[in-house]
Amino acid sequence: MTRGVRMVMLGRQGAGKGTQCVRLSRHYVVPHISTGDMLRAAVREGTPLGRKAGELMAAGNLVPDDLMIDIVDDRLDRDDTTSRGYILDGFPRTVGQAEALDQITVSRPLDVVVDLDVATEVVLERLAGRRVCSDCSANYSVDTPPKYGWVCDNCGGDVVQRDDDTPAAIEKRLAEYEANTAPLIEWYGQRGLLEVIDGWGKADHVTARLFSAIDKRRSS
Ligand code: ADP
Repeated sequence: MTRGVRMVMLGRQGAGKGTQCVRLSRHYVVPHISTGDMLRAAVREGTPLGRKAGELMAAGNLVPDDLMIDIVDDRLDRDDTTSRGYILDGFPRTVGQAEALDQITVSRPLDVVVDLDVATEVVLERLAGRRVCSDCSANYSVDTPPKYGWVCDNCGGDVVQRDDDTPAAIEKRLAEYEANTAPLIEWYGQRGLLEVIDGWGKADHVTARLFSAIDKRRSS
């Protein structure tokens, strides 16, 4: 079995990060840590974090760095991540978060940062048709719906359109990405950690590209 990797997945909204991260997490037997999923769970549960994050998220704005850094710092301190590794999806999203991650991972540095690259025109189309399970976050679309109605094939949860998959919030999130997150591609490139992977084409082909790029970099 292929075990262990410490990696970050970058890429525009709708690039396929969620789908690919689930596959990578099974293959490398490491947790898939999606900050978006963690925040959506907090919103559903009505926790103090969820109350702070909910409105920002629905409008497509970022949640403040200090909150996000605390969440990720706690999560990367747990036994599963310290012993096996992790796939971080949705963090870091700003240079401030990347600097904090450098400190958090000082004793166990990242193996690789992947930029899953898909053009803006393609992601716009994918986001408009995207549907997700409100319980387990499995991805569907209007072209590839669940087998029975809008009920998740994996867990039986309701499959819905995300609150922030409206045209206005999509535009805002893509603009946030270009302004705050795209600079991380160069930032990690300068540190020699970056692999750019073409995210266009069949999901299985993209997965194969990811496996070969990640395998080159794994330290374990
Ligand atoms: P997407 O990448 O499609 O926007 P995510 O599920 O990764 O979706 O994130 C949804 C929302 O959660 C973001 O628009 C933002 O409001 C918030 N969020 C998630 N991760 C972060 C982060 N690292 N920093 C700030 N906000 C975040």
